[in-house]
Amino acid sequence: MPTRYTAYHQRGHKERAHPTAIIPLARLRERGRGEGKRMTQPSPLLEIENLKVSYGGIQAIKGISLTIAAGELVTLIGSNGAGKTTTLKALAGLLHPASGKLHYQDKSLLHVPAHQRVANGISLVPEGRGIFARLTVEENLLMGAYVRSDKAETAADLERQYALFPRLAERRTQLAGTLSGGEQQMVAMARALMSHPTLLMLDEPSMGLAPLMVEKIFETIRDISAQGVTILLVEQNAKLALEAAQRGYVLESGAITLSGAASELLGSDAVQRAYLGA
Ligand code: ATP
Repeated sequence: MPTRYTAYHQRGHKERAHPTAIIPLARLRERGRGEGKRMTQPSPLLEIENLKVSYGGIQAIKGISLTIAAGELVTLIGSNGAGKTTTLKALAGLLHPASGKLHYQDKSLLHVPAHQRVANGISLVPEGRGIFARLTVEENLLMGAYVRSDKAETAADLERQYALFPRLAERRTQLAGTLSGGEQQMVAMARALMSHPTLLMLDEPSMGLAPLMVEKIFETIRDISAQGVTILLVEQNAKLALEAAQRGYVLESGAITLSGAASELLGSDAVQRAYLGA
């Protein structure tokens, strides 16, 4: 059963039997942490606890907690305005949380600037891709290696990206602004991979793409994951995201309302109703 957080939990009601097991929030959090550790490894790569992020007086993230173990592919799903992008921006260092714990490799990230987080292995592929339209494909990829100085290794990495994205190899001298949406998504992902991320965060990689291209992008996400890169995938396409991920979290109005194994979330009534149109 996915872990379910409701106002009922907040009031501390007692546990009921499956299938509508409702367990007090604090106990679920404890249990969730324990399960995460058993499923993967003792110390998570990323640990967020009670994170709050505000825009002026508006609290967009209202105290979320989540963990990601090294090598996991975890998805964060939720509808428009739920706070998915805000969460990723806080992780990338582009927004400063109002409070909460943000640990990466057992150290706090709170005072680590964005560029240092990239150097530490945290890389964000932003919503809308953020490519440099007037630079070529190759120049865009090289921008991703700016934190590194090893030229031979950078050249080898370029070739690795071209092997992962053959379509970019054919277009290495083309201006990125003239690429299709899917190809631009590939550039954004390849550029992020050029920084050798340990944790790759993808914000809505399927947005605006034709179905065949979405399939291709998700195939590549699986390949990247199979290479051992830890991935936090934000998606509105809940079905695809949960099919690709090992675990998932559901974010609603700035709060985590459900979490668990991706296959369980995929089968849960709440997710089916809210995100899969059942
Ligand atoms: P979407 O899927 O539509 O991108 P999201 O889940 O990524 O949505 P966010 O972009 O994180 O949601 O937004 C969360 C909330 O914060 C929303 O209510 C949004 O209006 C608000 N918000 C986001 N950016 C800003 C901003 N720069 N200033 C004020 N409020 C903002």
